[in-house]
Amino acid sequence: MYNQFLYLMETKKQKQTICIVGNGWASYYLAKNLDKNKFDIVVIAPNSHVLNTPKLVDYALNIIDNVPYIPNNYMDVHIDNTVMDVDFDINKLYLKPCNGEVQTTEYDIVVFAIGSVVNTFNTPGVKEHAYFLKTIEDAIALRKIVKNVTNINIVGSGPVGIEFALKSSIPIITLYEGKLDILPNIQSDLFRGKILKELSLNNISTRLGTIIKEVDDRGNYSLSETPLMDLHKKLYCYGDAHIVLWCSGVKPNDTEKQLVEKLQIKPGTKVDNFFTPTHLTYKNVHCIGDMVINQGPPTAQNAKNQAKWLANYLNNSNKIDRNFFSQYQPHSRGTIIHCKDGIFIDTKLYKGRIIRPFSDIVVKFIEWLD
Ligand SMILES: Cc1cc2nc3c(=O)[nH]c(=O)nc-3n(C[C@H](O)[C@H](O)[C@H](O)COP(=O)(O)OP(=O)(O)OC[C@H]3O[C@@H](n4cnc5c(N)ncnc54)[C@H](O)[C@@H]3O)c2cc1C
Repeated sequence: MYNQFLYLMETKKQKQTICIVGNGWASYYLAKNLDKNKFDIVVIAPNSHVLNTPKLVDYALNIIDNVPYIPNNYMDVHIDNTVMDVDFDINKLYLKPCNGEVQTTEYDIVVFAIGSVVNTFNTPGVKEHAYFLKTIEDAIALRKIVKNVTNINIVGSGPVGIEFALKSSIPIITLYEGKLDILPNIQSDLFRGKILKELSLNNISTRLGTIIKEVDDRGNYSLSETPLMDLHKKLYCYGDAHIVLWCSGVKPNDTEKQLVEKLQIKPGTKVDNFFTPTHLTYKNVHCIGDMVINQGPPTAQNAKNQAKWLANYLNNSNKIDRNFFSQYQPHSRGTIIHCKDGIFIDTKLYKGRIIRPFSDIVVKFIEWLD
């Protein structure tokens, strides 16, 4: 693929080359909506397929067997690599060396869409002992052991933690939330009330206002021998039977040191109305998706809307004056949470409604992502 990219660069250039760094929802919808007559679209990411995150819970719980991947058919070239650094003065990206050889790519426009990572809040023991549900590797690790799990402590009562709890058949489930209510980022009390009722009907205990200070691995201790001690501060895991699932939110992806500095990723990249980082003067650099902190929440819905806005801007920026573009307005169509045999919906129209049983037609109708 890298050779294909070099060929693209060597042939007489009719179009502008747009490099999209990352192959998640933001990248997918940007590539989908860009004008193919105007741009050659190069996607650089270590994954060639987009992870269908709303299906990750099902995959981790063995409810579905196919890896939830979506092909990104909208790009011209995929470079299977990770971007380590960028030089904005000469429009160059530096990739992870391959067989000792440094790889670079040049761009006319670059869009960073490198997403987020799990926020452990530096809580001791979490990285070492807890399970996560953010990447395909996380889901594979859970999938392998989930049948043996008899007791799970889920930390974080956002949509992912709750959906996992409501869909799983694990006998003992405890849900911990640092705030005083479940689903802290959701407005509707009615919706929250219905979900709380469903949790209780499924014998799922909720511990609100509980901040986990440490996760410890008690290896082979038997459950009856060592009860959970000091519940409000420390959780123990016991091999594969009694585990901790850490779902307490995300932070912008701060894994590549040079990018963190250049894009001011810590605590998250701030962008202007054209999705250009506010600390940069280069108009051909943009950031979208979970890595951006001031244009709405880190959701696939929002990543999609940002990507569509930016594609429209880039497609038309040579025809329309910059000042005439209406500003991006984050808006949410709502939240859906699946349980074993139904869907809870929270939209303006259907506040806290539950549809039971649900069919594929209903799912198609309410699904935010196409
Ligand atoms: C289990 C789960 C369920 C979810 N369900 C929903 C839902 O139902 N609805 C909803 O709206 N949102 C949902 N979300 C949130 C949603 O998945 C994210 O908001 C969305 O994926 C963000 O898109 P993104 O493109 O910004 O980042 P990502 O999708 O995380 O993609 C980032 C991409 O960047 C690549 N990358 C990272 N660093 C580099 C680098 N240095 N060089 C090259 N490539 C790099 C990664 O490999 C990846 O391809 C869910 C999230 C999870 C974890």
